[in-house]
Formats: sequence, C-alpha cells, structure tokens
Amino acid sequence: MKVEICTLFPGFFSGPLESSILGRASTAKLLDVRLHNIRDYTHDKHQKVDDRPFGGGPGMVMKPEPVFECVESLNLEPGTPVILTSPRAPLFTQQTAVDLSAYSRLVFLCGHYEGMDERIQEHLATHVYSIGSYVLTGGEPATLVMLDAIVRLIPGVVGKMDSVEQDSFMEGLLDCPHYTRPAEFRGWKVPDILMSGDHSRIESWRQQQKLLETKRWRPDLLAQHQMSPAEQALLEER
Ligand code: SAH
Repeated sequence: MKVEICTLFPGFFSGPLESSILGRASTAKLLDVRLHNIRDYTHDKHQKVDDRPFGGGPGMVMKPEPVFECVESLNLEPGTPVILTSPRAPLFTQQTAVDLSAYSRLVFLCGHYEGMDERIQEHLATHVYSIGSYVLTGGEPATLVMLDAIVRLIPGVVGKMDSVEQDSFMEGLLDCPHYTRPAEFRGWKVPDILMSGDHSRIESWRQQQKLLETKRWRPDLLAQHQMSPAEQALLEER
C-alpha cells in the first residue's frame, strides 16, 4: 500500500513510522509512506499556509491553494481515497479500516489551527473522518491512528491473520481477556478453565467473556449486535 501524507509537520511521523509493526511493514515493502510538506506548495516568500477567517473570529484557517497543489502533484489514479481528518465528521471505525485496507493507495490530509478552508472538504477530499469526540491540535495523530488500524489489516503485516480476525470490533463485540504465564502472580490466578485443556469449553468461555465485556464497556455495540440463540444463552448463564 502506498500512503501519501500531506502535512505541515512531516517530522511528527519519523519515529512512529519506523517503529514496531508499521516499521516492519515498510521494511517488508508492504507499506510505502511518503510525506509531503504542504508548505513546499506555496509560492510567496513567506510560504504562507494559513490566513485569518472570513467573517472574523479567532484562529487561523489553512489556505486552499497549497493543499490542492500538494494533492494534485501526486497524479492520483481516479478513485484514490483522499481522506481529510476532522472532528466534524463521522467516526473512523474498524469497519472503515477494513474498507480502506482494500485500496492500494491512500492520501491523508492533516489540518492544523482552526482547520482547513471548507472548499478542501467539498472539492478535494473524498472521505472525512474523526477519530473521536475530542479536539486535537492537528490531523497528524489522527492520521497515525487511522493508518495503524488500516495497515495491520493488510495480509502479511501482522504475523497471524486469525489473531486480527478475533480482535475487538471484527465481529461487533469486544475481545475477551487474555492471560499468560505465570499461572499465579502475586496470589492472582488465571481462570481455571484456561488451564483445563478442554478446547470447546475454552472457546465457549471466551465467547461468553466477549459478550460480557461488550455489555460492560460498550452496551451501544451489544445493542447493535445480532445475537444468536447460543450467545443469548451464554449471556444469561451469568
Ligand atoms: N475548529 C475545529 C478544530 C480544528 S483542530 C473544530 O472545532 O471542529 C485542527 C485539526 O486537527 C483539524 O483540522 C483536524 O485535521 C485535526 N483534528 C482535530 N481533532 C480531530 C479528531 N477528533 N479527529 C480527526 N482529526 C482531528
């Protein structure tokens, strides 16, 4: 996957893109991230990327011209997603990550200050997403969050694909709790069932835990979940 990030702060990405799974994906040539400094697409001697808002008020607004020119310089194939980061947008979810992971090229636009001139959203971006109901200082952390969630779905990036498929949200539920050695730590024991070696009981315990975790932390997800009779029974067992 080729990823183009248009930003005023390319330096923000240097550590995260080189570390852990994103770094490995780049080394393995499964991911090719290119950073584009929007400031390089200005033509005035002060390299002005923002200006005061029409109508008055506080803050500065990112100007449209350098952002359009930056994206146009990429010669995108038609249909390439151009993703604007914004709190004023639908939430980016696991399903969004799944959908976007099918593309071979993505473009991210990182806003700053009060955000970007609205004509960028209307006439340049093809998608706009928020990562949550809070305001960041810039689109860079939001882009990293989305990119991380998308890239780990590309086959070969995470060692075992079935571990990804069992993650939270993939089937509309949260994941179950996980334990590893030691079997007893400071007097706290791992649930007996996980030590039983009985795979079908372990599977059913895990399914029950997924339902209970979702009920506890994300009742909104449970309400949307198409509950099978077997799942209903597991929930009622408790
Ligand atoms: N005035 C805007 C906030 C701008 S924050 C408002 O109140 O809606 C500056 C930039 O940070 C935005 O342009 C966007 O790129 C990024 N940003 C802030 N919060 C975000 C969020 N929750 N999700 C995605 N991007 C966000």
